[in-house]
Amino acid sequence: MCINGYAAFYNLLKLKMTDQPDITIGIMDRKAEVFGGLHGNFHGDGLGYVSGHFSARAEAGNIIFFDEVHREIRRSPLIKLAAPEGSTFSLFNVPIGKRFHWERTEDQIFQGDLILQMRGDGTIAVINQIPLEDYLKSAISSEMNSAAPMEFLKAHTILSRSWLLAGLGRKKKIEKTSMTSGETADGERILWYDLEDHDLFDVCADDHCQRYHGITKIASRQVEEAVGETQGRVITFQDQICDARYSKACGGLTEEFATAWDNKRVPYLSSISDAPVPYPPIRTEEEACRWILSEAEAYCNIKDEGLLEKILPKGDRETKNFFRWRVEYSREELEEIIRKKSDLDFGTLKEIVPIQRGSSGRICRLKIVGSKRSTIVGKELEIRRWLSRTHLYSSAFVIATRRNPNGEVERFIFNGAGWGHGVGLCQIGAAVMASEGFTVEQILKHYFRGVEIEKMY
Ligand SMILES: [Zn+2]
Ligand SMILES: [Zn+2]
Repeated sequence: MCINGYAAFYNLLKLKMTDQPDITIGIMDRKAEVFGGLHGNFHGDGLGYVSGHFSARAEAGNIIFFDEVHREIRRSPLIKLAAPEGSTFSLFNVPIGKRFHWERTEDQIFQGDLILQMRGDGTIAVINQIPLEDYLKSAISSEMNSAAPMEFLKAHTILSRSWLLAGLGRKKKIEKTSMTSGETADGERILWYDLEDHDLFDVCADDHCQRYHGITKIASRQVEEAVGETQGRVITFQDQICDARYSKACGGLTEEFATAWDNKRVPYLSSISDAPVPYPPIRTEEEACRWILSEAEAYCNIKDEGLLEKILPKGDRETKNFFRWRVEYSREELEEIIRKKSDLDFGTLKEIVPIQRGSSGRICRLKIVGSKRSTIVGKELEIRRWLSRTHLYSSAFVIATRRNPNGEVERFIFNGAGWGHGVGLCQIGAAVMASEGFTVEQILKHYFRGVEIEKMY
């Protein structure tokens, strides 16, 4: 069944779905060649039954599909391979953590159907089609360690399901040509990235949407249980499924929706204190400085390595000191990074000035001043991208400089707070809350104020 058929109903709780929808996930995109293996007898139009190793190559508007003895068995712009019950397929060298500091490639195994689709630019999109609840099992296992506390896994399942259904409903409503971001008339570079960026599939498999690294990471019965026990459940606000966002660690205060995405107020995505004590939202530069340079007590301020090990998947445990962090560059090094990332030549860097911050201290407009030009960059992800060879942990930072006797900057020092955009649920904070005995409902209502939990199917 097709997801789009349901899209119109997502935001109308009165019309509940009778069954879970299928979703399409872009596993790899814009590839010239694809290599993998079919574990079972897959069936495709025009190629009958096929199994074993395969490869596919883009050539003159077609995808050429080769079987395991490298015999061409199909030539078409669209190749759809339906999986028989209980079978899987592998894809080799799948890139993960694209452009982030944890970037690498992996061989991955998937359930469901495999679709290879030709793009207009002569490259191949590799798509997996799978029922939503099966997708969730893998996505939860990829995002967090399946040994994390049960109430946390359930909370994450409910929010991932909500985010996905709300996003698909919204995507249907938006015209393909609509701009989600862009350059303003006075030369500001204000960009953000959202679900609307995908055309041939519903979501991608990487951090941009929600991590989905195949079934290789489904290690525990706990995730199966978390998905099974919450089946069809979502969080809602005023009868609409919530666009439930989340990030790794808020840093003690969560962020508002508009700091990371579109300039609109989403009531259940406002800034909250992620601690047993109420911290007020950040309003001034002085408050931002004091907050970021402090070691506030917060759910995500966790030093217990044993608990962190249970919460985070292996790749993420290499990220240390995410609650408060520090990055330093020589001026020349930062000039080179910014030139490469922005495609703009600022000349000699003079200063970097926060223009606007959200309530967690995350900067959404940052002014970069050089000898040749000055530009304001935003929003939070674009700022993080410009100021690092990969990405800074977050845009909640204060900038210090070291100058030579002539007053010229020699070094830029960034002291920061948190990991990710900070909007919605704080994954590490929520896992800590679960380990302290909070229930799934208490956790969801702590991060998403005013919401209800409802069953959609
Ligand atoms: Zn995506
Ligand atoms: Zn937090």
